[in-house]
Amino acid sequence: NSVVHVATGEQYDVTIGKGLIGRVASFVPSLEKVSRVAVVTDDVVEGLFLGDVTDGLKRAGFEVSAFAFPAGEPSKNIHTFAAVLEHLAEHRMTRNDMVVALGGGVVGDVAGFAAASYMRGCPYVQVPTTMLAAVDSSVGGKTAINLQAGKNLAGAFYQPSAVVCDIDCIAALPSGEFANGMAESLKYGVLCDAGLFDDLGDNPRDHLQELIARCVNIKRRYVEADEHEGGLRKFLNLGHTFGHAIEKCSGYAVPHGSAVAIGMVMAARVSASRVMADQALVDRLARALESAGLPTSTDIPAEELAWAAQSDKKRSGDTVTFVLPKTIGNCELVDVGVAELGGVFETACQK
Ligand code: NAD
Ligand code: ZN
Repeated sequence: NSVVHVATGEQYDVTIGKGLIGRVASFVPSLEKVSRVAVVTDDVVEGLFLGDVTDGLKRAGFEVSAFAFPAGEPSKNIHTFAAVLEHLAEHRMTRNDMVVALGGGVVGDVAGFAAASYMRGCPYVQVPTTMLAAVDSSVGGKTAINLQAGKNLAGAFYQPSAVVCDIDCIAALPSGEFANGMAESLKYGVLCDAGLFDDLGDNPRDHLQELIARCVNIKRRYVEADEHEGGLRKFLNLGHTFGHAIEKCSGYAVPHGSAVAIGMVMAARVSASRVMADQALVDRLARALESAGLPTSTDIPAEELAWAAQSDKKRSGDTVTFVLPKTIGNCELVDVGVAELGGVFETACQK
């Protein structure tokens, strides 16, 4: 297995390897006080992996319950969050008991936020089953739900006790879902690792364990340096101010990874218009995303996107911070006044 140690306030290991799903407990430290485990998942992952996970936890001696909600981003809301909390209470979970988030980023974000809130915080473990969750959302302790006004508007920073990534689950992903994870993986390449950017273009499914470990290691560095997003961690939002607006305007019909892919191309266009990068960068990025099976443009009008972006949580006071790529491997933070947002989105959407 590959192990990445994350040294945030609460420290934990990310273990990446084959055949881990049936023995999740063996990768979680200090389980002496845990007697009950609640596995939270969605109704697609339930049919694929829930049995293996619960069997393993029962063999390890825990009393296991499970809660599954309808798969998809629309479930990442306050009602699902409340239903998870009620499940934990009904099953008499205490602050010493443990939540297992089994699934993609939606499950991880909702279950993580529920674990952060239940009795002011109980331990939880991330078991990512999508590429996106493996390389990104399962690591770093950001948990959230969406509100009517926008993405991730309620949430908490709350680190897991462990992350257990079984690459057999990731290998089983349909191509569209795999592609969504490639968007966040390529993001790390654009941010700080041109070698990774190139390697991701070369049959990534054949090198899953190595590639996931490299991505997690990059995320680890940003998160360790800035756990609560005061500065450096903002770089991880490359493509996300545009992406969140696309997700919201599409009524969440465009998945997060695809929206981030389009958002990164938009960021590159804005960068080129400010002479921070050239058109060749825009083209190279778009080509890599297309080869990974991702979209690179949207028909949603620029004004609609700009309007949606105003309620994005990255708006602090009267400015929005954009991450703009200069080269593959180097980006810069640029603050834009809310009054300029319309112009930025206009440039970003010019094909
Ligand atoms: P998702 O959780 O909706 O999963 C996508 C689909 O794949 C779902 O239908 C799911 O049921 C299915 N699925 C999961 N595992 C599978 C498997 N092994 N085989 C077949 N199907 C499987 O979406 P996602 O792309 O994993 O995550 C996106 C979410 O993550 C967004 O809400 C985004 O905001 C969030 N996110 C959070 C962070 C963070 O730091 N917390 C970072 C990035 C993204
Ligand atoms: Zn993301």
